[in-house]
Amino acid sequence: MKIDQYTELYGIIGYPVRHSLSPLMHNTAFEAVGINAVYLAFETRDLKAVTEGMKALPIKGMSVTTPHKIRIIDHLDDLHALASQIGSVNTVVNHDGRLIGFNTDASGALRALEGKVRLEDTHSLIVGAGGAARSIAFALKEMGAIVTITNRTASKGKALTKALGCGFVPWEKMDHIEAELIVQTTPLGMAPDINACPIPVSILKPGITVMDIIYNPRCTRLLRLAQSRGCQIIDGVSMFVHQGAEQFRLWTNVDPPLRVMEE
Ligand code: NAP
Repeated sequence: MKIDQYTELYGIIGYPVRHSLSPLMHNTAFEAVGINAVYLAFETRDLKAVTEGMKALPIKGMSVTTPHKIRIIDHLDDLHALASQIGSVNTVVNHDGRLIGFNTDASGALRALEGKVRLEDTHSLIVGAGGAARSIAFALKEMGAIVTITNRTASKGKALTKALGCGFVPWEKMDHIEAELIVQTTPLGMAPDINACPIPVSILKPGITVMDIIYNPRCTRLLRLAQSRGCQIIDGVSMFVHQGAEQFRLWTNVDPPLRVMEE
């Protein structure tokens, strides 16, 4: 990669953020299409300084990951309609000094499910109620799915169900739900703690679809258990690539090199 006086800067903010594969994916994509840019990981909690720095330097675009997807909104100049409806931002575009927030998690999740499962009237259980769960629950509801949320901290889960108009089931009672689609959105099972699994095997019925949005490891313990019980499984790489591809397009106006990004 050649870095010179014209190189543009992009990045990801989060805390922690060193586990992220976004730098590898976006730098590979920039190189593949011949864009003179670099993408770095910034482990930070100071969103005011980040947004001021984005304008001052300028940094062209930023991915936003946990735990900043909701709090970043207070520091932006404008929000795309979908990000505003969902109330979660995973992408910031620096448009001539104005910082605009977008959400590509929702469409990334839908693209990952596309062609694999019918969503209309499908009983869906979302495990977790953080930023990613919020986007996915919104997207599934928009597609006509019947959504129930469960979360370790009941108050947060209930607040999300109230905001989105879906059902809630307590964490310890998630096996009472007859779900045709389960979407796992907590970090449980992510490296290095790869033996964790938040979902009781009793709800992994043959024929249902289980998506785990963790992408490291690609096949989590949950997905291995689900596959062994005859469920269709969808790993987190597909959503990761599609949400990143839409970010790439928003930042560069160039078609993202999907195959390279997935590799
Ligand atoms: P977040 O906003 O911090 O939310 C985390 C959620 O996980 C909360 O519901 C939290 O519950 C729950 N949780 C955390 N630790 C837990 C534990 N030990 N036991 C039970 N529940 C726990 O994070 P996020 O942005 O939604 O991201 C969550 C995960 O999704 C991360 O692993 C991230 O890498 C992954 N992700 C993947 C993609 C993709 O494209 N594949 C996109 C976005 C995120 P409480 O409310 O009780 O704290």
